[in-house]
Amino acid sequence: MDTTCEVCHGHAPADHYLCPACQHTALVWLRELPHQVTLLRTMLQPENGPARRGGVGRAHAPLPVRLEVLDLIGPGHAHVVYDPHGDQTGGVPVGAFLTGWAHYIACDVPAVHRDEHGTVQILQSRAATAWPRTGTGLTAWRTWHERYLPYVATRPYAAHFHNELEGLVHRLRRLNHTKPVVRAKNAPCPKCAGWSLVEHEDQLHISCTLCPARLTPEQYDAHRATVMPQLAALALRMAVPLRKEAA
Ligand SMILES: [Zn+2]
Ligand SMILES: [Zn+2]
Repeated sequence: MDTTCEVCHGHAPADHYLCPACQHTALVWLRELPHQVTLLRTMLQPENGPARRGGVGRAHAPLPVRLEVLDLIGPGHAHVVYDPHGDQTGGVPVGAFLTGWAHYIACDVPAVHRDEHGTVQILQSRAATAWPRTGTGLTAWRTWHERYLPYVATRPYAAHFHNELEGLVHRLRRLNHTKPVVRAKNAPCPKCAGWSLVEHEDQLHISCTLCPARLTPEQYDAHRATVMPQLAALALRMAVPLRKEAA
């Protein structure tokens, strides 16, 4: 029986805690991590301002690194510390997030797992399997998570993983001043007819900025293939009388 996605409350396949759209978003976020970390490394040192004479004195020498950046790319614990008073500055660093979750997931993976298509997948044996095949760099860990994401989507902690990943990516984007690319689509919305369909880089669906319409890329392509020739024919019919009047 189909279920509800625990992140967006949309329709999820049987025995899944994440819908395909939220799985897609998590995948895009995972793929974004190495690029964001590369950007962040360039921001580790504070910008050196011009030397000032006789200015306001400092009690301490300025720190040679930016702490909010070090928080994200340095060592740390895998799970966000319970922080009822908001005293903690950072959160989970990228490396600790990836390795911590990989070890947690690996301990949970059974030796044999049936995927969403019903195919039996023989996975590595239980526990001590959270090691990427291609080294232990950030990209290797990210690839490990990409492989296991379809399994994570079937586990009760899927929404927790998704939320933590979202928090991490948003912190990285804030520090790096980056935003996911949004592209305007070249067809009217099938629901409200506005020229208001947009494609977000990290979302599966093409959505309308004026109404709740959401289309998969395939639905959009089919819609565009139907509606655009009709609009072109209409524009031509309107143009012909105008040309006759002008003649
Ligand atoms: Zn969802
Ligand atoms: Zn619309």
